[in-house]
Amino acid sequence: MRPSLLDPLFAAITALPGIGPKVEKLYRKLLGREDEPRVIDLLFHMPGGVIDRRDRPRLRDVEPGKVVTVAVTVDKHRPAPPGRARAPHLIYASDDTGDIILTYFHARSDYLEKLLPVGETRYVSGTAAFYDGMLQMVHPDRVVDEKGLAALPMIEPVYPLTEGLGPQQLRKAMDSALAKIPALPEWQDAAWLARNNFPSLSAALHALHRPADLRDVLPEGAAWTRLAYDELLAGQLALALLRAHQKKQAGRPSAGDGHIRKKIVAALPYSLTLSQHRAIETIVEDLGKPERMLRMLQGDVGSGKTVVALLVAAAVIEAGRQAALMAPTEILVRQHFKTISALAESSGLRVAILTGREKGRSRDEILDRLQNGDIDLLIGTHALFEDDVGFRDLALAIVDEQHRFGVHQRLALARKNNAVDVLVMTATPIPRTLVLTYFGDMDVSELREKPAGRQPIDTRTIPLDRLQEVVEAVGRALDEGKRVYWVCPLIEESEKSDLAAAEDRFADLRQRFGGLVDLVHGRMRGPDKDAAMQRFAAGETRLLVATTVIEVGVDVPEATVMVIEHAERFGLAQLHQLRGRIGRGSGHSTCLLLYKAPLGETAKARLAIMRESEDGFRIAEEDLKLRGEGDVLGTRQSGLPGFRVARIETHGALLAAARDDAHLILNRDPSLATERGRALLHLLYLFQRDEAVRLIRAG
Ligand code: ADP
Ligand code: MG
Repeated sequence: MRPSLLDPLFAAITALPGIGPKVEKLYRKLLGREDEPRVIDLLFHMPGGVIDRRDRPRLRDVEPGKVVTVAVTVDKHRPAPPGRARAPHLIYASDDTGDIILTYFHARSDYLEKLLPVGETRYVSGTAAFYDGMLQMVHPDRVVDEKGLAALPMIEPVYPLTEGLGPQQLRKAMDSALAKIPALPEWQDAAWLARNNFPSLSAALHALHRPADLRDVLPEGAAWTRLAYDELLAGQLALALLRAHQKKQAGRPSAGDGHIRKKIVAALPYSLTLSQHRAIETIVEDLGKPERMLRMLQGDVGSGKTVVALLVAAAVIEAGRQAALMAPTEILVRQHFKTISALAESSGLRVAILTGREKGRSRDEILDRLQNGDIDLLIGTHALFEDDVGFRDLALAIVDEQHRFGVHQRLALARKNNAVDVLVMTATPIPRTLVLTYFGDMDVSELREKPAGRQPIDTRTIPLDRLQEVVEAVGRALDEGKRVYWVCPLIEESEKSDLAAAEDRFADLRQRFGGLVDLVHGRMRGPDKDAAMQRFAAGETRLLVATTVIEVGVDVPEATVMVIEHAERFGLAQLHQLRGRIGRGSGHSTCLLLYKAPLGETAKARLAIMRESEDGFRIAEEDLKLRGEGDVLGTRQSGLPGFRVARIETHGALLAAARDDAHLILNRDPSLATERGRALLHLLYLFQRDEAVRLIRAG
């Protein structure tokens, strides 16, 4: 499927001279790839800066501390005296304005005598300094003769490196990679390129890796910007194709008469908030329209998104169709199933569950019932969208905690041939630029208010060395019949030892409080996890030691106390999510953030924000300031394919143009069949947005 013209760029880098299996491993690390790095991955490895060797002073005018390239005549060598290996090998050289000493430690004299033969002229590049009043250059970066000078890059890109991989080695590899770039058809509009002074793709890559000008390697320079625009356009095209694909499968109006919704609402132990009412109304209106819906429901933790999901699902079920609710974790799926089943009973809704845990006969049975239309609402993990899961008449797919899913899962969802109206739900307020970048155009509904009767959470910060007092306080809370979460952090690099920490804490607390204490963590078997959550929800246990597995979505309204150990290790958004597990009922809630003293200024400020605010939007804003956008989305953790070339802070402003461009292109040429369209296919492959190409074919 990939245009064969691109083959040289998608060849494994081991095809480049000098890259064997051992060095390949280093490149995997450097380029952040799990599988085999390809030539294109290397070419997209951007320089972090340059060394400018263009300054060519005479020796008299050399400024110490600055990189220069000087032409000198070699006068004499003074090797380290025998038996004094630590003494340097000195080379005296000069031009007609002055003298310089070139100094080498631990170097082989015969090598140096060949490199710098007495009586000859050589060009030496590096940083000089004065020692004992003499101009010296210790270990020049480059020494070349007349011929070498012509080939010496006077502006040399400097790359991020990894241990074991030197700059020279990388430069060589880059040179061979550049030589592999084929002549590609231009996919950008010629007039637009000219207007912006943008080079071709090949010229841009050459400019970045063999710069002739300092500007060539700057993110805001023409070369980098052209590549960034390419990448943004590829992304926006893919999203627009996705959107077009969804729209093309003409939606059917599918909102029922309200008879199921009425029963569910009557069974609710509370009345809906105004925001919930509004959101449901808007979504049901969308469902009633013939176009496909793509909508995001944004609402802070605890704002009550689940019941909105249930009621809009009920609307399509009333019309005789099916709905699916996808959640990112097993725990969350089980919990949704429990809440929803309880309400479904009275209204005749048929609900089932499907995760990786349903296997064999029981899975087959679910799939059969689904196919026959005997299941109205299927709740599950991403197992819902495996290829063999077929609905009789799926009308609505709801994705809970959308930010936890990657673009790949979204594409999988869209590829289901009975692609449907889509509602994604998230507690993370996502900046507008990022919505555009990752999701394309999407309508947004917000739940701005929290359910009535919620009391503010009392949040306090306490140094870890007062742990004993905290344990006492927890003891008093348990005496009063309260339910408590105790969260231990799980840090990626040392998962095992942190898990051990949670287990140790569990053992401690168990000794103190006996059977009231339970443990839940990510490494437990699924059924054991459920059982632990179940016992806590039922009040059989009342102190739940947990890792961050409880972070997303967990809902036990009776829990009113949360202790978070090493709060300083968490991101703000994550702390907010965690804290969102309490303060869900009408009881007064307390959150104790334990930190390891002393705290730095930033860490102090971060915890202070948590004390002051419960507003997810404000907290996210602060988080954004402190951490950068990728982290807010959780992309760094979940490996959501991000951008390799474009930098949101520099090129974000181009996003809107790329989006308009993508729409214009697809309006004129929806199946990318024109000459430019075919060129654009190359672009989609180049930036690995080729999943979208399949959507064109899927029609
Ligand atoms: P989130 O938006 O974080 O997913 P949930 O849907 O889990 O929130 O709801 C949080 C809690 O609030 C649940 O216990 C739910 O039953 C309750 N809830 C939802 N809507 C209301 C409401 N209108 N009034 C009172 N409680 C509500
Ligand atoms: Mg939720």
